[in-house]
Amino acid sequence: MERSKESDAVQAGHFIDRETGAIVPGLQPSSTYARDSSYELIGEYLYNRYGTPTHKVLEELVARLDGGTDALSFSSGLAAFTALIETVPVGSHVVAPQVMYYGAQQWLRRLDDQGRIDLTLFDQRDSEALAAAVRTETDLVWIETPVNPTWDVIDIAAAADAAHGANARLAVDVTAGPLTTRPIEMGADYAFHSATKYYNGHSDIGGGLLVTARDDDRWAEISWVRRHGGAILGAFEAWLLLRGMRTLFLRVDRASATAMQIARHFETHPSISHVLYPGLESHPGHQIARKQMDRGFGAMMSIRVVGGFEAANRVATSTELFVPATSLGGVESLIEHRAVLEPPESVVPDDLLRLSIGIEPADELIADLTRALG
Ligand code: PLP
Repeated sequence: MERSKESDAVQAGHFIDRETGAIVPGLQPSSTYARDSSYELIGEYLYNRYGTPTHKVLEELVARLDGGTDALSFSSGLAAFTALIETVPVGSHVVAPQVMYYGAQQWLRRLDDQGRIDLTLFDQRDSEALAAAVRTETDLVWIETPVNPTWDVIDIAAAADAAHGANARLAVDVTAGPLTTRPIEMGADYAFHSATKYYNGHSDIGGGLLVTARDDDRWAEISWVRRHGGAILGAFEAWLLLRGMRTLFLRVDRASATAMQIARHFETHPSISHVLYPGLESHPGHQIARKQMDRGFGAMMSIRVVGGFEAANRVATSTELFVPATSLGGVESLIEHRAVLEPPESVVPDDLLRLSIGIEPADELIADLTRALG
């Protein structure tokens, strides 16, 4: 019988320990692995930085969920990102959106300032801009969709065509749209997740995941960078991640359904000038979102509050259920005034509040936000 991805996530890949019958993958904390009397390794493991049995179960499951051939887990999302970027040849051209997770963009800008890469940032709201930015020297196109924190949607299939037309690779950060957006099925070379968010779901570990469409020399180099850079996810975190992933589909489906309800409810609220959510027909990226998000529109949205910075800040400090904190993808709903964190070059509006919708009852979240909006 062929198992669904949902069942595989719930059962950690239908895990049954052949020696003990345990149905939960073990946590193997050993930093090193012994050899036998012929000085051969007893098992397939050598040293913790190279991976452990816990990582193996995790990474096989992650690769399956994104339809890739292999996956690697890292100590944070940014550790996964920097491992991939480390394999971009010096002097190569990299293309990325103007609005994206600011930490990753700052890293690219820094390499550009140092002359190690040549960076072009394209306007992610313009459907022609990505293809126009790609050149014959482009090595990597990095996109994020939906884009954090404006939730613009980038067409993955079109981005893959543009990248591959120049022999470049396409990597897609789908942290905000896991399960519903599967980039490798749409032609991307790599799918990326900050596992700190939905994959873990409980706001208690940091982690990053890279999934590849094929095991080639570039993937071998990325694996080498992880091994020798030492950015592998800790064994305990890998175990916790597997535990969190048992409810991944349930959590994401519930949070996405609630997000849709909240977006619809506040779309016409007089204290809100914009509800930015790809599931709304009014969202400029809605048609592309319909094409490439086949399991809801995710649980991330932003609202722009009438009255600018001050009014937005007042709302962010007045909620009683939404927790005022950064990050996203946990079971608890978060509200964040992005302007407080964005770097000076950011184009994110001052009045924007980012909402990470969790799994609390929708009516309570709506009541909390209604009261905070005054
Ligand atoms: N990508 C997106 C879309 C994010 O929101 C974040 C973190 O907020 C990252 C990447 C970076 O992940 P991490 O914080 O796990 O390093």
